[in-house]
Amino acid sequence: PPFSIGLTGGIGSGKSTVADLFAARGASIVDTDLIAHSLTAPHGAAMPAIVAAFGPAFADAAGALDRARMRSLVFADTGAKARLEAILHPRIRDAALAAAAAATGSYVIYAVPLLIESGTWRERVTRILAVDCPEEVQIARVMARNNLPESQVKAIMAAQVGRQARLDAADDVIENSAGIEALTPQIDRLHNLYLAFSKRTAT
Ligand code: ATP
Repeated sequence: PPFSIGLTGGIGSGKSTVADLFAARGASIVDTDLIAHSLTAPHGAAMPAIVAAFGPAFADAAGALDRARMRSLVFADTGAKARLEAILHPRIRDAALAAAAAATGSYVIYAVPLLIESGTWRERVTRILAVDCPEEVQIARVMARNNLPESQVKAIMAAQVGRQARLDAADDVIENSAGIEALTPQIDRLHNLYLAFSKRTAT
């Protein structure tokens, strides 16, 4: 398989920030969050299956997923969560692989928030890159960005794999607790490494 990287990190760790910096250097970013969103946008490819499984009340007037309604359902009902994931995950994976096949960058980075939690993604990528920062920094960033109370940020983090498990699974780590400018040398170094790997595995 062609060389590919899975980019992951806890909420607010800086995945999007890091992905943008790799894109500026010529990498192709395949963002599974964006794909999930487009699958459930008005007339998104997952909407017929979602309406068939959960009922028309889960689509809004425009034909998009009623996210608030679905969030409260899956929060209370793990069976419903599993059914939703059974619809979304294969479609996300197929769309991501299609986007990667069409990508023109020097290598592909899949941005996958829950990559460590997903056996499929861990097997699919040749290298795992984790963005890391202390949990207090994650909490402060997400509270500021999303205007959320600390308790809610902590609840989201509790549903994600812990910091140490993510670090243990990673081949490469970007440390993102300082300012944005501290990212540049780390990204330059990894970009050169990934260019070398992608040349070595090119057929
Ligand atoms: P999510 O998991 O919620 O999608 P993420 O991991 O993609 O988040 P970003 O959106 O890149 O994280 O960053 C979270 C917030 O922290 C953003 O508002 C971003 O601008 C800010 N941020 C990221 N890195 C830094 C940094 N090094 N210094 C200051 N602010 C930062």
